[in-house]
Amino acid sequence: MLQDVQLSEEQFHLLYGNAPVGVAISRDGFYLYANRAFAILFGYETAEELLGTSMLTQVAVESRTQMLSLLESIKQGEQITGAYEIRCTRKSGSNFVAHIDAYHIPLAAGQAMVTFVTDITEQKEMQQLKDDFLSMVSHELRTPLTTVKAFTQILQKKLLKERRTDLADYLKKMDQQIDRITGLITTLLDLSCIQEGKIQFAYEPFDIDELVAEAVNLLQSLAPRHRIFIEGHVGCIVIGDAHRIEQALLHLLSNAVKYSPQNDTIIVHTRLVREHVVISVQDFGIGIASHHQSKIFERFYRVYEDKNTTYPGLGIGLYLSREIIARHAGHIWVESAEGRGATFSFSLPLDPVRACEVMQSAEPDKAGKDS
Ligand code: ADP
Repeated sequence: MLQDVQLSEEQFHLLYGNAPVGVAISRDGFYLYANRAFAILFGYETAEELLGTSMLTQVAVESRTQMLSLLESIKQGEQITGAYEIRCTRKSGSNFVAHIDAYHIPLAAGQAMVTFVTDITEQKEMQQLKDDFLSMVSHELRTPLTTVKAFTQILQKKLLKERRTDLADYLKKMDQQIDRITGLITTLLDLSCIQEGKIQFAYEPFDIDELVAEAVNLLQSLAPRHRIFIEGHVGCIVIGDAHRIEQALLHLLSNAVKYSPQNDTIIVHTRLVREHVVISVQDFGIGIASHHQSKIFERFYRVYEDKNTTYPGLGIGLYLSREIIARHAGHIWVESAEGRGATFSFSLPLDPVRACEVMQSAEPDKAGKDS
């Protein structure tokens, strides 16, 4: 029995002591155990130096509230995984960005928490450089494009006056392609603005049925090979930024067209579920395998399952749509199976102010998702 305990302890030290990520066990926010990688990460000579100290000592001042709420969540039995980032402080006082996974664990001596920490400062800096570059390039491209568009239109008018329709047609095509490039640049600019919190939302009452009809008409004119139907009628007013909501809906509609090249039917369902408007865009196209479904809302995420077909795109639209809907205290989700089409839905609370208050006090309910 004693041998078993010794063996298990040896295995524990071998495994965690040599692990390349920082691992620590704590109780009530104080360290009970830390491995070598954890000590190195925080600038300590040995892990023993950390034992008995408060976890908050290693957290940058501006992230302490975040850390306290993490500790509280873990106490309630939650697991913190995925993209949880926190600013930490080394013994020397310098800061770094840490990616944290944390779990609640029952120990013989009581409840504890295990934390896995990785330094992602370099990744964050690279990401920032890339974002700044994208934002700068998009800004720089917009000005010359506006000039090119203006001259294309002047030339087109001139040629039409001179009845040289063949040449005017070429210019019309050029003009359409300029619009496509402008659309891509606007998406890139929206991306950098939304990330930096620079997009201002104008919350005003609007008729959601009208907005759906307008978006469908617009997309129908751009995709004449598809037939887009509306099913349902909400019959109420929503408070929000109509322009941005339309942008999200147009994005779902153009994806439905793009990813259903062999099937021409698209149905937009509108319904009212528990004081939320729910809009769904259903297509019968290529669908999305379940392991991709939670990731497609991340920025730049694209699915490359079908090796023979390339669909143009940047992997930004769903990310932007999710941000827009989230800024209205709503949700966006997908139901799909590979090869069997996809239904993208979003819900919007009729009263976003009240919904925001509810969201702050509790985990939001995905209205309409299960109905
Ligand atoms: P983009 O379409 O520009 O790649 P999005 O952010 O709109 O970027 O979508 C991310 C990914 O989600 C797409 O690359 C595609 O793989 C998948 N996707 C989105 N909408 C659909 C759809 N209606 N059917 C199938 N796949 C879709």
